[in-house]
Amino acid sequence: EEFIAVVPAAGVGSRMAADRPKQYLHIAGKTILEHTVDRLLSLTEITRVVIAISADDPYFPLLPLATDPRIIVVDGGAERADSVFAGLAAIENDNAWVLVHDAARPCVRQADLRALITAAISSDCGAILATPVRDTMKRGLHHSTPPQISHTVDRDNLWHALTPQMFRVGLLRQSLTSALAQGATITDEASALEFCGYTPLLVTGRSDNLKVTQPEDLALAEFYLQLLLK
Ligand code: C5P
Repeated sequence: EEFIAVVPAAGVGSRMAADRPKQYLHIAGKTILEHTVDRLLSLTEITRVVIAISADDPYFPLLPLATDPRIIVVDGGAERADSVFAGLAAIENDNAWVLVHDAARPCVRQADLRALITAAISSDCGAILATPVRDTMKRGLHHSTPPQISHTVDRDNLWHALTPQMFRVGLLRQSLTSALAQGATITDEASALEFCGYTPLLVTGRSDNLKVTQPEDLALAEFYLQLLLK
C-alpha cells in the first residue's frame, strides 16, 4: 500500500490576526507547518507530502521543506476543499491512501496516526480522527442579537472532527467532485463522503491535536509540542 499526506496550507489565518498566515508562525523552534510535516514524515509509511500553498506565498520558498525531495508543492484554492482537491490532482495512483491533515495541527501524535491507518485500511470507505464532545452543546436562536439559546443539542455520540482524515485517493476525488458540483458545504473531507452516502469510521484521537486558530492557541500548541518532543 502507498500512503501519501495532503496538507492544505493555503489559508490566510484571519482569526489569528498575525502579520503572516498562522502556519508560518514559529513555535518550539520552527514554523507550525514544519512541525506538522515532521509529524507526518515521522511515520515511515508516509513517503510523500503534498502541500497546497497560495500562489503568492512568500514564506514557503524560504523553508528547507521547499527543496525536500519528499515534498510536492501545489497551488491551493479559494476554499479548503479546493486546496485539498488541488493536492489530490498531484497524485496519480487512485488506489493510494491519502491522509489529509491541516497545516495548523502540529501536535498530532504518532500513536493516533497509527490508529487511524490501522482503522482505515480495514474499513469500507475510510476513517477520521475525532474526539468526543465534552461540553454541553447549545444551538443558538437563528440570527438573534445578542445571541440567545434556542435549545440544547444532545452531546451523546457527538464528536469533534479532527484531522488526519484518510481515504483512497480515487474515492475522495470522486466524492469531492460531486459534493462541490452540487454546492454542498464541505469543511472537511468526510463531509464530501457523507454527502455521497458513505459512512467513514470515527477513530478516537487525542484532544491535544488542536487546530491553531486563535492567538491563545499558540502557547497551548507550544506546550503540547514540547511534551511530545521530549
Ligand atoms: O481556516 P481553517 O482553520 O479551517 O483552515 C484549515 C486548514 O486549511 C489550514 O491549514 C489552512 O491553511 C487550510 N486552507 C487552505 N486553503 C484555503 C483555506 C484554508 O489550504 N483556501
